[in-house]
Amino acid sequence: MSANLASFLYLVSGVLFIMALRGLSHPTTSRKGNLYGMVGMAIAIVTTLIYATPSFNGFVLILAGLAIGGGAGAVIAKRIAMTAMPQLVAAFHSLVGLAAVMVAAAALYAPESFGIGVVGDIHAQALVEMSLGVAIGAITFTGSVIAFLKLDGRMSGKPILLPMRHVVNAGLAIGLVVLIVLLVTTQSHTIFWLIVLLSLVLGVLIIVPIGGADMPVVVSMLNSYSGWAAAGIGFTLGNLALIITGALVGSSGAILSYIMCKGMNRSFISVILGGFGGETAAATDDGIERTVKQGSADDAAYLMMNAQKVIIVPGYGMAVAQAQHALREMADKLKEAGVEVKYAIHPVAGRMPGHMNVLLAEAQVPYDEVFELEDINSEFAQADVAYVIGANDVTNPSARDDKSSPIYGMPILDVDKARTCLFVKRSLGSGYAGIDNTLFYKDGTMMLLGDAKKMTEEIVKAMDH
Ligand code: NDP
Repeated sequence: MSANLASFLYLVSGVLFIMALRGLSHPTTSRKGNLYGMVGMAIAIVTTLIYATPSFNGFVLILAGLAIGGGAGAVIAKRIAMTAMPQLVAAFHSLVGLAAVMVAAAALYAPESFGIGVVGDIHAQALVEMSLGVAIGAITFTGSVIAFLKLDGRMSGKPILLPMRHVVNAGLAIGLVVLIVLLVTTQSHTIFWLIVLLSLVLGVLIIVPIGGADMPVVVSMLNSYSGWAAAGIGFTLGNLALIITGALVGSSGAILSYIMCKGMNRSFISVILGGFGGETAAATDDGIERTVKQGSADDAAYLMMNAQKVIIVPGYGMAVAQAQHALREMADKLKEAGVEVKYAIHPVAGRMPGHMNVLLAEAQVPYDEVFELEDINSEFAQADVAYVIGANDVTNPSARDDKSSPIYGMPILDVDKARTCLFVKRSLGSGYAGIDNTLFYKDGTMMLLGDAKKMTEEIVKAMDH
């Protein structure tokens, strides 16, 4: 295969990846988007195998790698629970980071194989690309490992705030730049490994201060980093497809992080620099006895069947309980009775962006009943019932009304403006951000304490009476 043909095919796969992203931006076109992505990836892999594989042995090694890695990936993806997806994504990002470090090391020790010079005389441009790839890769690796440990509950989600962390981080970043300049001028292997070491430490330091409630942005930010690391590998390997794909992942991850920061009212710049967490506090106990109105499935069924408009607000608890099918059944019953039903999705409801949309789509909830926060928030005031199922932080009025709250400024769904707010959860415990929800104690709120799926099924049954 000629170099021109290979470049053309890489370009085709790049265009397909862009079409994939476009398709994935809406549920109705997402299957098509996935298909474009798969075809693009197949073209890129076949082109690389035919064009860039030097020998039969290399070919066999690549196929073996594909079989082992692809097999493991398929098994893991099949077994993983939807609720554990964020930590899986974090774990996968760490592998991209590690791969970037490995490729850069291979290029340093065997530059001839990469066509970038010989040992001791590697082209300066290649050294710059290599050092950027290795630095971003190593930061992504340890950062993602920490994110995985926090999300998987193997490490406390509480922020670990080291003294003078911003100064230390800035010092390490400056140190990195100096080492990169030294690597380009001296080509010393020791300096290369010092860059790796410094970046590994920086990855840990950037993520440990970030608290649980801010983790969604971290995962998306690491996604972006892993893209840039892949683009770095692409430059080292001279692989156009990898450069395009890396840049796409890098920039789309950055855009997603920005959107999520807006969704949570966080500063994008402080996220990128790391350590923007720490504002999250534990549940506040002011010692005041507060009363809670508790209801039953029968009460809920009665209230909703006699409503004109019901807005459903799903959250992480719905995912845990796998209550989406029962929920759709409940909505069907309400619609049959002439009640208007809509779903309201907060941008960070659940544990990753789009989490709720995927689950509702799985239960075949019609797309035109599902609304984003800004499109539906004004409607709560006209709703008779807000049915909050396994959501907590995304409804907490403290974010709107209490300046001292750690989540102050985060946009919330105004469920308290509905005439009645039915709250399905198992206890009066706090959500992911670890703060109390004042909504539980409001007059218009009725708590339906129990598992989201069981409670919804009981309500469906009660609607038949
Ligand atoms: P929350 O974590 O605030 O609340 C979920 C609630 O569901 C809990 O309070 C829990 O209460 C309840 N719950 C858990 N299991 C069940 C069950 N089986 N049946 C009924 N209820 C259950 O979730 P939200 O979706 O409201 O908010 C998302 C939070 O997660 C935000 O703080 C966000 O920042 C964060 N986050 C978001 C990510 C994203 O990208 N979307 C990623 C990571 C974090 P109880 O124990 O009493 O039942």
